[in-house]
Amino acid sequence: MPQPKRSRAAGAGLLIVLTLGIFKVAPAADTHAAEPAIRRALEAVRVDPEASRRHAERALDVLARLPNVELEIRARLILCDYFSERDRAQAEEQLARALALLDQAERVGLRSGVLACRGTISETAGHNATALQLYEEAIEAATAADDREMLANALYARGYLLGLQGQYAAGLADLKRAQSIFEEIDLPYHALTALNGVAILYNRMGEFAQARDMYRRALKEQRAAGLRRELVVTLHNLGRAYENLGDWTQAQAAFHEAAEISRQLGYARGEAYALRGLAAVANARNDAQRALDILARAERRQRETPDARLHAQILLARGVALHKVGQLVESAAVLEEAARVFEAADSLHELRKAYAALSAVYADMGAWKKAYLYLNHAKETSERLWQNQIDQRFASLKVEFDTVAKEKENALLVRANEVSQHALAAERRARALQGVVIVLTAVLAILLAGFAIGQWRTTHRMRHLALTDELTGVPNRRAVLSRLERLLKDGRTACALLIVDIDHFKQINDRFGHPEGDQALQLVARCLRDQVCDPAFFGRLGGEEFAVVLPSAQVGEARALAERIRERIMVLDGLRWLEDRPMTVSIGLTISTPGDTPSTMLQRADAALYEAKRAGRNCVRIQPLPEKPSHVLQIDAASDAQQHA
Ligand code: GH3
Ligand code: MG
Ligand code: MG
Repeated sequence: MPQPKRSRAAGAGLLIVLTLGIFKVAPAADTHAAEPAIRRALEAVRVDPEASRRHAERALDVLARLPNVELEIRARLILCDYFSERDRAQAEEQLARALALLDQAERVGLRSGVLACRGTISETAGHNATALQLYEEAIEAATAADDREMLANALYARGYLLGLQGQYAAGLADLKRAQSIFEEIDLPYHALTALNGVAILYNRMGEFAQARDMYRRALKEQRAAGLRRELVVTLHNLGRAYENLGDWTQAQAAFHEAAEISRQLGYARGEAYALRGLAAVANARNDAQRALDILARAERRQRETPDARLHAQILLARGVALHKVGQLVESAAVLEEAARVFEAADSLHELRKAYAALSAVYADMGAWKKAYLYLNHAKETSERLWQNQIDQRFASLKVEFDTVAKEKENALLVRANEVSQHALAAERRARALQGVVIVLTAVLAILLAGFAIGQWRTTHRMRHLALTDELTGVPNRRAVLSRLERLLKDGRTACALLIVDIDHFKQINDRFGHPEGDQALQLVARCLRDQVCDPAFFGRLGGEEFAVVLPSAQVGEARALAERIRERIMVLDGLRWLEDRPMTVSIGLTISTPGDTPSTMLQRADAALYEAKRAGRNCVRIQPLPEKPSHVLQIDAASDAQQHA
């Protein structure tokens, strides 16, 4: 089957990836002298394998003079891959040398490359179980080293081998994963090779038409890119698809071109595969002699390559041709040999063909028992093959379904995540805005409160100033009279008004100056503040006159207060201003009557004060006179006057 594609694509692809990766990382600044040769060797892998080998060997010559561990590993891996399908001993030697250098290499992912190349050697030798084990290890190593390129290559190798073993679904999963990683890391030709691997699996699963279309697409790109060695493999695979579809003309054209290019490239293995294809076409056209001639050439080429399966496939075609030319014994012998190889490799496709051919040969030989036996084998193998194809088709459908489902699920998760991220961001923004608003509101409230407090304080101060006497600090005329007015308007009970006037105050000013007079006024104000208690209140009416108001007061109580004030003033320290006598006051008193205003009360109190002055000062007089006979009051006042004279 399509062997050459596999080993070349997996191994060479691996190396190309490796080196391209390194070149990407290390720019031309400190380019090692061996690097250009290695680059050319890698580029040639897909175009001209012989040229690739020559460049790799030249790189090793340079490295012998100028050692560099990683470059040498890469050069040896290129050669290991080259020899894996030509000369196993040489491939093993290159591998051993690469392995010996591995511990000194910085790029740990290189271990995966070494393991994969060992796997390729085993696979070419037909040791598929060992090869599979090595590819698994290569995948583990690449995963551990987090080396995407190495991982994709190892996945490709395993996927291809799993497909050969009939595990199409698992193989398909590996190949698709490899393909998408190659695309991700921008290695389109590698992705294309992986896609071809997928096509080969489709071919083996019986999806010939689908496989054919994939190969045609790949061919176009490979021709455009000049990847001649890749072309050989794809042409061969395309030929197999046509072979399976029974389109012999197209199959012949594809195998023919594959053989031509292989010959030009000196690519023996590719040529051997293509010749086997051409022989199959000749067999199908019943041109058995031509088939045998072609197969003789194929065998010569095959001897240059250690490919056990290819050898068995050539034997199968030769057995069929020998049968057609009537060499039944020889036919049975080569077919038995081929069948043993296919049995060992569990290659059901070829095994079925081999059994069917053997049954036909033995039937022609008259060996009915053997013919019957092989017919049964062929039937069983067919059933196994179809059963496997059906199982695997379901499995691969499941893989695809799971992949699509997973992708959808992921996309949904991503979208859900985006939506919640969006909502979170919006909420965060809203919260931030709310915070700003709250802070601004608080600031505004504080400012307003401050402003209001300031306003209130100002208003309060202004009001205080407006209602306070500047000199003495006691309520002024307006304050006292407006409070009296409210009291009168309320009018529930009578109240008393006293006007307290300092006697001969002018003398103080005259003798000691205005400031001293001010001090005397302050002294009197303090005295009044001590004597007038709540609910009574007082203030300065102006000049040396003060007013005292007693709410809810009868004449007796008011008079008592007036007398007390008069007496207290007398004991003040007035001597410093009035050397010969104490400071005294005269007081006019009146009690409110219904309909009174501050003004009418002031008039009466003033009249009473006038009376007090006239009576000789330092006494209390009342207006209007209370019920008590006025002479009694007169006597009181007179006695007071005498007392203090
Ligand atoms: P009488 O016993 O008749 O009341 O005599 P008097 O001198 O107290 O009264 P008069 O009305 O003749 O004089 C009052 C004086 O009070 C006149 C004025 O210069 C003085 N005076 C008025 N206001 C103030 C003030 O705020 N400070 C000072 N130092 N003197 C003032
Ligand atoms: Mg006066
Ligand atoms: Mg006076």
